[in-house]
Order: sequence, then structure tokens, then C-alpha cells
Amino acid sequence: MNVKLDGQSIPAQRVFCIGMNYTEHVQELNSKTPDQPVVFMKPAQSIAPTGKELIFPEHGNDLHYETELVILIGRSGHVKNEIEALSFIQGLTIGFDLTMRDLQGKLKKAGHPWELSKSFENSAPLGNFIHFNSSIDIHNIRFEGSINNEIRQKGNSAEMIFPIEKLIHYIGSVWKFIPGDIIFTGTPPGVGSLSKTDVISAHSQTLSLDFTWKFYSGK
Ligand code: ZN
Repeated sequence: MNVKLDGQSIPAQRVFCIGMNYTEHVQELNSKTPDQPVVFMKPAQSIAPTGKELIFPEHGNDLHYETELVILIGRSGHVKNEIEALSFIQGLTIGFDLTMRDLQGKLKKAGHPWELSKSFENSAPLGNFIHFNSSIDIHNIRFEGSINNEIRQKGNSAEMIFPIEKLIHYIGSVWKFIPGDIIFTGTPPGVGSLSKTDVISAHSQTLSLDFTWKFYSGK
């Protein structure tokens, strides 16, 4: 599975995801604010590049959208501290962490892993990356998620419970990063249910990005 960075094709490696990283989203799920980042993963095969039609998953009853800011890692190695963490970022984009919410609720309740609800094929619609550079203020990136052209989620990286350098340091102190690793940084409030005919879009004025995906029945 390849991802695009300013027109260049890059093989995707691990897809790390952060759960519960915005206070109002934690509240809307009736969860408790975590004291360390909540990390889970999707296989690279979950990625659906922009323009790909998504098969609507049928293994649960309540598919939710989660719009997220996404980081592409461009350096190898462990991350020693939060100061050097930002130097690991090569690209930025926006995408969706699609979640089968009813299934996730059951799994959470039983104390089981989340993969069935989070890590299925096409569960990570992902836009094309742009290069990260020093003119981008990583702590003030606004982004939005729309369903059928109606804005449902508004986020700003300023509102993260664990800021981006903390996430990169936290993950990179356990895993040894490789270029092509990807991090979904969590979703702001406003998540909700999808139906088969919906069109989902993620956009960011700050990054001048706008991506859209459609579902189809698979038949
Ligand atoms: Zn998420």
C-alpha cells in the first residue's frame, strides 16, 4: 500500500492511531480522560487513498466517522525526547478513522482488543500528504469533517490532550520508527453514524487540503 507525498509515492508502514485525544470527544463517548496516550494500530491495508470507493462494512450496525489530522514519519529510529520529536515529521494530511461503534462498545465492555471495530479494510480513508515545513504551526492546524457537504466536526491541533510531540515521543520510545510510518492523532467531537449513500469529506484550510470518499455496496 502506497501513500502520496506531494506527488511522490511512498510505501506505508505501520499505521498508529491515538484514541481519546480531545476532551469533548472523550465526553461524548462517556469515557474517562486517559493519563497517557491510548495507542492502537491498523494494518497498512486499511488505508483507502482519496478517490477510492469504499465498500460499506456490514460486520456491525453503527459505522462512525472520525476526522483526524494525520502525520507521516520520515526518519528512522527511536525518539529520545519531545524536543527532537517534530524532526520525525515528514508530511501532514487529514483522513478518517472509521469505527464500527456498536462493536467497539461491546469489545470495550468485555475488555477485548478493538481491531474488529477499527482495523478492517478501508477503515482508514487517507488524503495525500503535503511536506511539513517550518512555516506550518503544528499546534494550530484547523481541520473539519463533512458528511454530504455538511460540516459535522471541527478540530484544531491546539485542543489535543496530548500534543503531537508527546504522541511522537510516546510511540517512538516503544517502537523504532521507520520512514512511511503513519500516525492518526485522534478525533475532535462531533462523531456520528454513516449510511451507505453518504459522501465523507475531510478538509483543512490551514493546510489547503480537501478530500472526498464515497461508499458503494460492493455488489
Ligand atoms: Zn480515532
